[in-house]
Order: sequence, then C-alpha cells, then structure tokens
Amino acid sequence: MLKCFNYDIVCQEIPDEVTLAVNISGCSVKCPGCHSKWLWEDRGDELNEETVRILMNRYGADITCFCFMGGDAEPAEVLRLANFIRANFHSVKIGWYSGRSTLPDADNVQSSCISIGFIDAGCLSKSLYCKAFDYIKLGSYVEELGGLRSAKTNQRLFKISGGAVTVIKFSEKNIPVSE
Ligand code: SF4
Repeated sequence: MLKCFNYDIVCQEIPDEVTLAVNISGCSVKCPGCHSKWLWEDRGDELNEETVRILMNRYGADITCFCFMGGDAEPAEVLRLANFIRANFHSVKIGWYSGRSTLPDADNVQSSCISIGFIDAGCLSKSLYCKAFDYIKLGSYVEELGGLRSAKTNQRLFKISGGAVTVIKFSEKNIPVSE
C-alpha cells in the first residue's frame, strides 16, 4: 500500500508544469545523504484511487501535472495509479520521481541498452512505465554529486512525448533545456 505523507503544488520539480507533488512515505532507497528522511517512515494516509480522485477534484483545475514523489517500495502500485489518472483525468500530465537507477521493468529492456547501471533515453521508451508517465526522474541522491540541477549529478529527468524519450538538462542558470 502506498501512503501519502503530504503534498504541495510546486513549479520547480517538473519544468513548465504546475505540479501537484505527492510525497510518498516508506522510501526503500535510503540514500545516505537524504534530505527528506521523514519519508523513510511508514506514515500517512493510503494513496489509492479514491484519494487520488479527491486530490484531483480539489486541485485538478489548478495543476497541469500530478507527480508521484517516491513509491519505490511498490513501483507496480505507482504504475497502477498512474494508469488510473491517465484513464480518468486526460488533461493532466503524470510524473514520477524515483530514486532507482533504472526502471522496475529494466529486465524487459534490451540489456545492451544498460550501461553503468543506467538506461539511455532511446531504450527507456520500451518500458511500460514510459507508456504511463510523461516525466520520470531516475537516480538516487548522492550528496557529492548533487541533485538534478548539479552539473555532476547522477540523476536524470526524462520527458516522454509521443513515444519519444528525451533527457531534460538544466543550464548553468538553472533553466531547463530539452535535448
Ligand atoms: S529517494 Fe533518496 S533522497 Fe529521496 S526520499 Fe528516498 S532516500 Fe531520501
């Protein structure tokens, strides 16, 4: 069961989107430099179809994107709820911030596409997850490498549109630049 620790409407996490970011507790990744250790706890209200619908009825008119922040302990459940949103709220894009280095169905992706524990954008499009999401962020948080906006980061934010997967890069001025 996924649990929602809290949520907020944000503009930085997904470029050019007003995002309802839903923080999911019970994080199984446990990055050593984690900045949100409270999300390691098993706390919050169940996140299911009913609670997603309540959130969407309350905030759907104000947002352009619904983003699952975490949920790595139960990725199939994240996928299931993403498909629920896709089927019921057509105008809203869907994102997932995952701490994984690869997608849960990486075994279904050609092994030749996997290099140094990471999947390149072209191969990601074969994943079931890329059919369900418009944005996926992959990569754990490594303190010395920094987050998405660090030039050294191990993390990647992918945009999926029309079956094509591109990496969103961030310029030195912190402006997103799609490749
Ligand atoms: S993925 Fe890493 S940084 Fe994010 S909540 Fe989990 S342990 Fe913390």
